[in-house]
Amino acid sequence: MLDEININKKVLDLSKDVEKELDNIFKDIDKICEYNSLKVLNAFHKHNLTENHFNMTTGYGYGDFGRDTIEKIYSTIFKTEDALVRSQFISGTHALTVTLFGILRPNDTLLSISGKPYDTLEEVIGIVENNSSLKAFGIKYEQIELIENDFDYNSIKKRLEASFIKVIEIQRSKGYSTRKSIDINKVEKVISLIKKVSPNTIVMVDNCYCEFVNTIEPSEVGADIVVGSLIKNLGGGIAPNGAYVVGKKDLIKLVGERLTVPGEGKEVGPSLGINKQILQGLFLAPGVVNSSLKTAIFTSRMLEKLGFEVEPKYNDKRTDIVQNIIFNNQNKLIKFCQGIQKASPIDSNAIPEPWDMPGYTDKVIMAAGTFTQGSSIELSCDGPIREPYIAYMQGGLTYHYGKIGVMRAISNIID
Ligand SMILES: *Cc1c(COP(=O)(O)O)cnc(C)c1O
Repeated sequence: MLDEININKKVLDLSKDVEKELDNIFKDIDKICEYNSLKVLNAFHKHNLTENHFNMTTGYGYGDFGRDTIEKIYSTIFKTEDALVRSQFISGTHALTVTLFGILRPNDTLLSISGKPYDTLEEVIGIVENNSSLKAFGIKYEQIELIENDFDYNSIKKRLEASFIKVIEIQRSKGYSTRKSIDINKVEKVISLIKKVSPNTIVMVDNCYCEFVNTIEPSEVGADIVVGSLIKNLGGGIAPNGAYVVGKKDLIKLVGERLTVPGEGKEVGPSLGINKQILQGLFLAPGVVNSSLKTAIFTSRMLEKLGFEVEPKYNDKRTDIVQNIIFNNQNKLIKFCQGIQKASPIDSNAIPEPWDMPGYTDKVIMAAGTFTQGSSIELSCDGPIREPYIAYMQGGLTYHYGKIGVMRAISNIID
């Protein structure tokens, strides 16, 4: 069967040694999974989830108590006052966009303190000109770079003392940058500084890829509003689309009114039959994040042993589910992504090529043979075609499928 899928015997042999080495690390990850499973189950119990919550609404979506209960469960898990969990959000970028347009007003300033935000936000903010950007509506943007993978606490303090900043954005996961992802302890430290210097500044966290990787979330360390995608960690591979925004009640109201209609906000928005999938996905999410982490750690150690540069290392503390392989070689990046595609359950005979994608400046190669289009909680690998040719690999609905996929991809670059 290994020949049939084209997994090299040498790769299989190496995997046996590597797995032995990873035993204790995997046990620690299992403890985090157990903790987060308990968190989800307790939230389900607190809100007395029943089969009736799976019922759907259509049209305006008035009185969708399943949808409302999902939002209460999200609030409980994130320890926030309110939540918005909707399929009307197309993606994580859309939820971030609606949040920014919801809470910022003309002449306000948005400050990113984790360097340049995720590529698809460039046109949203107006870093790349667009007549529909925040900039086009008179919202100013500033950015403070990270120093050695940590916040520039001094510059942040000075900037906040100089004049009022309405919103600070923190992006935890690295996106398509070369920096490391930002640990929750650093997020806590910087938020306490921000709140001391400027208590009325709103702290918004882009939490994509970080949910359930550790035991606490940004809203537990002072973030006012937190955003993420349901085709990543919390959808558990089951939610068919959507995103979540959790946080302070007054802020969620603003975001709801931007998503739908001023005066209607969260009251409308039909669930169209996906309540069960959102709930089942959330239920499975701690386990799926666990499988993704194991797949990432396995990948990291395998490729390190084969002489490739990887980030994070197998034994580094993790903040997100993303594994980087720094190929320094365009062809190897492409071949690795194509190998991931070849081991996918869906579209395994498609051969991904670098392409111009809407929202991205460089050409990007994306391997995702997924049940849900573009889902990156399923094993997927992508990378912009620019130096140093980094693969961003993430996901894995089960560790075993993840491991097979990675062994197939490695076979594709060493053959
Ligand atoms: C994935 C991601 C997003 C949003 O991406 P979508 O593809 O629009 O869901 C935003 N920020 C970060 C850091 C991400 O990883």
